[in-house]
Amino acid sequence: MTAYLVGAGPGDAGLMTARSLELIARADVILYDRLIPDGALAGARADAELVDVGKVGAGAQVSQKTTNELLLRHARAGRDVVRLKGGDPFVFGRGGEEAQLLRAAGLDFEVVPGVTAGVAAAAYAGIPVTQRGISAAVAFVTGHEDPAKPDTLIDWPALAAFPGTLVFYMGVRSLRRIAERLVAGGRPASQPVAVVQRGTFADQRTVAGTLADIAQRAADAGVRAPAITVVGQVAALAEEIAWFERGPLAGRSVAVTRARAQASPLAARFRALGASVVEAPAIRIEPIAATLPDLAAFDLLCVTSPNGARRLLECCRDARELHGPAIAAIGPGTADALRERGVVADIVPERAVAESLVDALADRPARRVLIARAERAREVLPDALRDRGADVEILALYRTVAQPLDERARAGALGADYLTFTSASAVRFFCEAAGPGAWGADPQIVSIGPITSEALRERGLEPHVEASEHTPDGLVAAVVAAARAR
Ligand code: SAH
Repeated sequence: MTAYLVGAGPGDAGLMTARSLELIARADVILYDRLIPDGALAGARADAELVDVGKVGAGAQVSQKTTNELLLRHARAGRDVVRLKGGDPFVFGRGGEEAQLLRAAGLDFEVVPGVTAGVAAAAYAGIPVTQRGISAAVAFVTGHEDPAKPDTLIDWPALAAFPGTLVFYMGVRSLRRIAERLVAGGRPASQPVAVVQRGTFADQRTVAGTLADIAQRAADAGVRAPAITVVGQVAALAEEIAWFERGPLAGRSVAVTRARAQASPLAARFRALGASVVEAPAIRIEPIAATLPDLAAFDLLCVTSPNGARRLLECCRDARELHGPAIAAIGPGTADALRERGVVADIVPERAVAESLVDALADRPARRVLIARAERAREVLPDALRDRGADVEILALYRTVAQPLDERARAGALGADYLTFTSASAVRFFCEAAGPGAWGADPQIVSIGPITSEALRERGLEPHVEASEHTPDGLVAAVVAAARAR
């Protein structure tokens, strides 16, 4: 099996199927559309080839022909190629054509259905597309066709007479003519209509009206694609059923620049608060193979980051190897990472900076100290302990390396409302990857703490907000506070 036609759902990453995530994680190549959930590719392999074949309005775009060629070429080469589409691949997704193409070329493929926008955007707006006693049928219709065209494929009188809900895709620009055609065909002008823009995304918007006034209302509200239009009595149920909570970050976008593996939990927290999240990792964690020295010879083991904690435990064959020294974590996040793996730190300063750990260790003289950390790090802790007469050894367990930033991630991050940084190395790599210029006053820069802020200032970027608690939770709280103040 080499080619997969996969639906990514309408926008909320939580609506992606288990199968789609599995295939994304495995793929050699992913050919993706513009309308896929934010972060849909977060689980892709670091070495996977990600190709944006998204069609951008009428502007420059990858043609279907080129997309087909790419699909065939990679499938023929025996690579696992995922063709990732918004919603469902077989609902106005040209998935059927791509399947025909693969079949004609004698190539194997699998189709992974996705949650289609017509059902999901409606549901997130509080509209059941069928409802007992109100609507016993639903039709998905393309609104792309110009209803004024004489050779239209759509039988408007039949559609107007359809006994149930009509859901139009791609119909924003033709909304006025669609409504006119339906009324001309006999639908009451008073029939409820709802237009749902960017359904299931954090910035979803619904405009309600009737066939008589929906076009004007949508125009007044500035509705733009992607949007679906639901025509029928069920549209009125939104008044009663609308549920999609609008959190404190609703309508805001937040860029997360930390390494992919760590970005997802942070991104999920922002999303849960209603933000749309751009993941722009310019940095990747690369493990360094290491053998733990005999810890019985040390009286203090310092762990200076959650990654360090994770790697330390990976290098441990047997938990008893950690027996012996007192264990100090640099802050609560690192202590949590240790605790998740069954190790409770003895010393945890509240502020996750080396200076705080140095203070916390002031009344604990240690003779031999092992510091488990990144290859490159500030020397504050080892220097201070050496000054106190300790014999300090460094155990480098990982390094952070640059990860190329694709244009979409770069533009998304620089265009976000909040651009967040969780470490000095994320600052360094992001600035290198994003390059100079295009750094208007626009995104509010949010830093997790003083070291990260210093790294920003060194590059001429003044953080607008610095978290008072230097943890991911503290960072989230800082963004929420900033959004409230705006
Ligand atoms: N295969 C997709 C549809 C692709 S056609 C699916 O099954 O959902 C593109 C159209 O889908 C858009 O013009 C819009 O009408 C609709 N659409 C896609 N995502 C949407 C979203 N999040 N909210 C509202 N409409 C959406």
